Amino acid sequence: MEEGARSCLLQSRSSLEQDIRASYLMDHMISDGVLTGDEEDRIRSKPTRREQAAALLELLLRKDNQAYISFYNALVRESYGDLASLLHNSLPLVSPEAEKSFSDGGTRYVQAVLSEGGVPQRPVVFVSRPALVNRVREKLYHLQKEPGWVTVFGMAGSGKSVLAAEAVRDHALITECFPGGVHWLSIGQLDRSDLLVRIQSLCFRLEQQSQEKDPSSSIHRPPGSLEEAKERLRFLMLRRYPRSLLILDDIWDSSVLKAFDIQCRVLLTTRDRSLADCVSGSKSEVAVESGLEEDQALEILALYVNGKPQRLPEQARSIVRECKGSPLVVSLIGALLREFPDRWAYYLHTLQQKKFKRIRKSSSYDYDALDQAMAASIQVLSEEHRELYIDLTVLEKDVKVPAKVLSVLWDLEPEEVEDVLQDFVNKSLLFRDCHHRPYLYYLHDLQLDFLAEMNRSGLESLHTKVVRQYQQRYSQGPPTSGDEECLYWFRFLTYHMAKANLTQELCSLMFSLDWVRTKAQIMGPAHLINDYVEYGAILDKENSEVRVHFQEFLSLNGHQLEQRPFPDVVQLALSQPDSSEVYRQALLQAQERATRG
Ligand code: ADP
Repeated sequence: MEEGARSCLLQSRSSLEQDIRASYLMDHMISDGVLTGDEEDRIRSKPTRREQAAALLELLLRKDNQAYISFYNALVRESYGDLASLLHNSLPLVSPEAEKSFSDGGTRYVQAVLSEGGVPQRPVVFVSRPALVNRVREKLYHLQKEPGWVTVFGMAGSGKSVLAAEAVRDHALITECFPGGVHWLSIGQLDRSDLLVRIQSLCFRLEQQSQEKDPSSSIHRPPGSLEEAKERLRFLMLRRYPRSLLILDDIWDSSVLKAFDIQCRVLLTTRDRSLADCVSGSKSEVAVESGLEEDQALEILALYVNGKPQRLPEQARSIVRECKGSPLVVSLIGALLREFPDRWAYYLHTLQQKKFKRIRKSSSYDYDALDQAMAASIQVLSEEHRELYIDLTVLEKDVKVPAKVLSVLWDLEPEEVEDVLQDFVNKSLLFRDCHHRPYLYYLHDLQLDFLAEMNRSGLESLHTKVVRQYQQRYSQGPPTSGDEECLYWFRFLTYHMAKANLTQELCSLMFSLDWVRTKAQIMGPAHLINDYVEYGAILDKENSEVRVHFQEFLSLNGHQLEQRPFPDVVQLALSQPDSSEVYRQALLQAQERATRG
């Protein structure tokens, strides 16, 4: 093996050991002929996943360039995109396969800029749409000299997000137009408090990065209101990140867009062409056709089955036609065919069936093909995995979760959860965001629509399961680590309780000063305040006075609860009127403190 490749493997060894599953990768390496059955057996005989990973790497280090390339390709196929990217720059250029791996157009600099800004990576199976990408880039060049908006619009699932990420994967564009960087923000359907939290975390990310570059710049407390957030962002974009691009992915609502009307450069993706009408500045737009061109869709199928587009069976074209080139559906079917290569006719027939009748279609898009493809993909899951997949119905749209949340929900060991998730990712039933460690997982919102529709009658019990599993895991008190999992529970426990119709439990949680204190400390007060508004009607059935007490306490003290160091909540609560439930609980706690000394 070339020195550069070996050195890269050694440098990346600990990250690889930590994450890879040797058993998945070895299948590919055996079929590439770089690993023998005996070698595989020896590696499999190691007792733990980590030891197997270490043994595979050890063996790999003694092999040649082909083995390195095969290992790299196996990582890509098994959706370890970020690990593959560690090895990418040292790929020995000895085969056309390796040349192809370099074709993402991204230099090391581009990769660094995009990764810092949270721009999603390419899907594992990817085809380029050069005409569209060029159209978006051309519009982005108009932002070189002045701020403005580029709207990429089209149907759900037509590939807008992938396209937006692809458009900025270009060295010249970034250096010439956006030397200040590219910052990605996933929006989706959200309310004001969610939006505030998103902008807060964007500001935090920007301040943190700018502090790394210039230690004299400071990190401020999070902005407390949307107006303040908008001003903070304006300041940051103007002073610290001039000539940078903000990508707002999947905007639904013009009021959301107004929060970003701060004279900066924005690329937005949306289903609604007219959204940008409400903001000021120069504007341009690019339409994304709802489906891929036939050739591109065939290329996706070919990539999945490791074949050439020209050699695909005759049903391939009909499959593409049947799903109107929808990249999401083609990916689902491609993943199925990878597993069952002789089922072309069967899946074509499946797509042609019109079994699912939606009660409510969320847009004019024809979802029939997606429904059939989703049903077929779910059908080939093992029974056990199918049940687990159905549990994902309870996730809110546009929310990404770490595996640990699912480990609580499914009561499985983290390693088992990884296996399950890998199965879903391989089938395109789930997507993985590799920018975060630990990884975050999410469904496309059309997939969630499908699940919600399929499990409409069981929704309440699915949400109940989430709450019960949480209560079982955290019987001693909520998690306080502040990691992604902990944040998930603080953000969504109330949501699951409300959907599960667990009114009593929701009330006792939200009428507890302890919950208020911990949630405010971990997430800031914005979400908390919103919870009382959102679930007000449910809480009022139990006790509207107490609901008002908590809400008043929060609106009076919201700004204090944003301060760090975090204030003494009992002290704050003691200044409430003594008829307030908040006061009553604070008094009890103060007395307890006094007796404990
Ligand atoms: P939208 O933003 O329009 O809802 P996405 O960009 O999220 O759609 O794409 C939906 C899915 O379609 C992706 O998760 C991916 O699996 C697939 N996809 C989209 N564009 C491509 C592409 N160029 N190559 C391969 N797959 C694609």
